[in-house]
Amino acid sequence: MSRTDHDKLYIGGRWVAPLGGQTLTVRSAATEEIIGSVPAASEADVDAAVVAARAAFTDPIGWRAWEPERRAAVLERFADEIDKRTESIITAISRQNGMPITVARKLEAGFSALLLRYYAKLIREQPAEDVRPGMLVKETSVRRHPVGVVAAIVPWNVPQTLTFTKVAPAMAAGCAIVVKPSPETVLDAYLMAEAARAAGVPDGVLSIVPGGRELGAYLVSHPGVDKVAFTGSTEGGRAVAEACARLLRPVSLELGGKSAAIFLDDADLDAAGIGESLFAATLVNNGQVCFLGTRVLAPRSRYAEVIGLLEAVMKAAPVGDPLDEQTLIGPMASARQRDRVLAYIDAGRAEGARVIVGGGRASGPGWFVQPTLFADVDNSSRIAQEEIFGPVLSVIPYDSDDDAVRIANDSAYGLGGTVWSSDSDRAVSVASRVQTGTIGINGYAPEPTAPFGGVKASGIGREFGPEGLASYQNFQSIYFPAGRG
Ligand code: NAD
Repeated sequence: MSRTDHDKLYIGGRWVAPLGGQTLTVRSAATEEIIGSVPAASEADVDAAVVAARAAFTDPIGWRAWEPERRAAVLERFADEIDKRTESIITAISRQNGMPITVARKLEAGFSALLLRYYAKLIREQPAEDVRPGMLVKETSVRRHPVGVVAAIVPWNVPQTLTFTKVAPAMAAGCAIVVKPSPETVLDAYLMAEAARAAGVPDGVLSIVPGGRELGAYLVSHPGVDKVAFTGSTEGGRAVAEACARLLRPVSLELGGKSAAIFLDDADLDAAGIGESLFAATLVNNGQVCFLGTRVLAPRSRYAEVIGLLEAVMKAAPVGDPLDEQTLIGPMASARQRDRVLAYIDAGRAEGARVIVGGGRASGPGWFVQPTLFADVDNSSRIAQEEIFGPVLSVIPYDSDDDAVRIANDSAYGLGGTVWSSDSDRAVSVASRVQTGTIGINGYAPEPTAPFGGVKASGIGREFGPEGLASYQNFQSIYFPAGRG
């Protein structure tokens, strides 16, 4: 199997020799073989990245001072350079974290380029000031300024898109950004750096510091950072939020989930494409997506039918090599993640849930787990309350719409979810009572123009849409008590 080894870091827009001596080794999720390595950034490398970002940000004629049109053109060139590298990016991701290649084609490089182009368009359209006639002053001019140097901490599950949910709006706003990717998925980050350089992203505006959570913690608390954007586990998010609270540093948190897929009693279980939509909403990327509806709520009157549908969907999903175009379920991203998922499967059995499909480790090398369906799950059990982050679904029976809403909301999390019904008004009325940041009707797909994020333990703040751009902007009100004159 081919390997990609890097000996430089992308700091301040240049390829430089690392200041520390450590290396991060990357393994294939499907074969466990070493597929590459990169230098681990040291604290001194983070210092250099933050200094470069600060210099780029404070340059009076630099990035932030450019006309939006000029920044937008760079974002679009960046998108073009990502497009040129699509196949390399999705192959790298698939090999690293086991994301099936067909899923990577939908969720990764193309989505990143879309975000860059979307935010380029948004800053072109955004007026320089919002003039508001006042109640106590004659007029106020509300202006937006970039927040400054951004530290972006991203997980391994959808590494490129989750990086660009931060990089695209932050750069569009005029910020400089230091990205810390997860050690499991650093190879695709290098392709992003190559694209940035080829696109002419100015020096200092983007740096990448590969490393683990200690390095992440160092970056989060760095005195040269103005804002932190974190996507990851709720546990990690809490630690980041605590550090930011002490520093009074703005932070956005996209965290874990345990969303509900609610089948109403009028759901059309034979609808065209329902298998595909259900798979995308509950199992895509081997169950390693934060918004998936892993608690399936089924009305008692149609309980067996819903289980039958899920069973058919799971059994029809080919498990195997993520690079194979036929594969729908690949391995877990790491041995640690596989062991965690298997431990939850054991816990589900021990708590009395009934295994309908799967229930163990899949054979062969690689960190594979069988797609697993549990029935008769109690919503208070661990498999219903804790985020598993694997291809494991729990079916929970309910008695009425009110009961379904109560169970859906009986969770520490509040990120995504779905409602399945043949009556869209009824579905919307149920959906609006579910306490989550997003929810889909008869399917689920995050939309770049609409705010995405969580409530409760699923996070604080919103990405995507104009709201995502605003999270990298400070608002300044300039009062004209007597008018502009
Ligand atoms: P994780 O929290 O272990 O790590 C995420 C990133 O944060 C990594 O880069 C890690 O090195 C870093 N990190 C961890 N602790 C840190 C700390 N104290 N200070 C600074 N950096 C720290 O999460 P993971 O296992 O890599 O990712 C899976 C988790 O991410 C799941 O819980 C999933 O639900 C969540 N996630 C959320 C969203 C969302 O948009 N809400 C999207 C994808 C994944």
